[in-house]
Amino acid sequence: MGYSDTLLKGQKAIVTGASAGIGEAIARHLAAAGAAVAVNYRSDPDSAKKIVEAIQAAGGEAVAIQADVSKEDAVKAMFAQALETFGTLDILVNNAGRQNDAPFTEMTAEQWRSVIDVNLTGPFLCAQEAARLFLKQGVREGVSRAAGKIIFISSVHEVIPWAGRVNYAASKGGIEQLMKSIAQELAPSKIRVNSIAPGAIKTDINRESWEKPEAEAELLKRIPAGRVGESDDIGKAAVWLASDESDYVNGTTLFIDGGMTLYPEFADGG
Ligand code: NAD
Repeated sequence: MGYSDTLLKGQKAIVTGASAGIGEAIARHLAAAGAAVAVNYRSDPDSAKKIVEAIQAAGGEAVAIQADVSKEDAVKAMFAQALETFGTLDILVNNAGRQNDAPFTEMTAEQWRSVIDVNLTGPFLCAQEAARLFLKQGVREGVSRAAGKIIFISSVHEVIPWAGRVNYAASKGGIEQLMKSIAQELAPSKIRVNSIAPGAIKTDINRESWEKPEAEAELLKRIPAGRVGESDDIGKAAVWLASDESDYVNGTTLFIDGGMTLYPEFADGG
């Protein structure tokens, strides 16, 4: 995949929501860089199994672990299972996420909660479990300069408001301060915490906005780079953020959006 398979050698990772889309790519890329990967899934064991088998066929190490990240007991059980399998943990990628759109005045409290629970409370619960582990374990000499790495998969909507999706935008805006506050708290303990904010990446979550050529053309108006992103664009960045190559990077959001956050409407002078 273009980089050394020793970059994450000996490291163990959990990727949430990894049975599809961006999470799947992150799991594959971390494994290709040498990490053993727990492929978390909520409800699709067959897809998770296929990804585990593909990683193993490519010479990597992986295991599928079921858990709904919005449930505290399930998160604890997932970490216990990963620890039992791998013996230790070095990397958490908080990727699982969902949308449940509605105009603001019609959005039910249940619709609001369903997104906040998965996109904000889930990453909080997982990061907390990971941090507790990293603090206990400390730096593993010869494996990484950090005691652990936490990566949130946020969104350009941590800064771009999104009408009709206030639950999603609020969850991603919340991730920004969750990530930064944890980064500030844990940096002295050599735990690095950062986010990746994808722009439009071709996955199921936004299929209707890129599958038909007319829809894709509309979407491309907002992407100065002139293409819709691929999950691999995010997978590669996750490897870098998880590796010692980014050892001095703390509390940062890396926008991978083909320039979507550059206010492309102003390119002609506004
Ligand atoms: P996706 O729908 O393909 O994948 C989301 C994954 O999360 C699925 O595998 C789903 O099963 C899992 N998931 C949902 N609820 C879960 C739960 N309670 N517990 C465990 N897993 C759960 O979409 P994607 O585009 O791959 O999204 C991945 C992440 O990237 C999300 O956080 C999303 O908000 C973010 N993101 C995506 C885009 C994009 O353009 N695709 C842009 C910005 C941010």
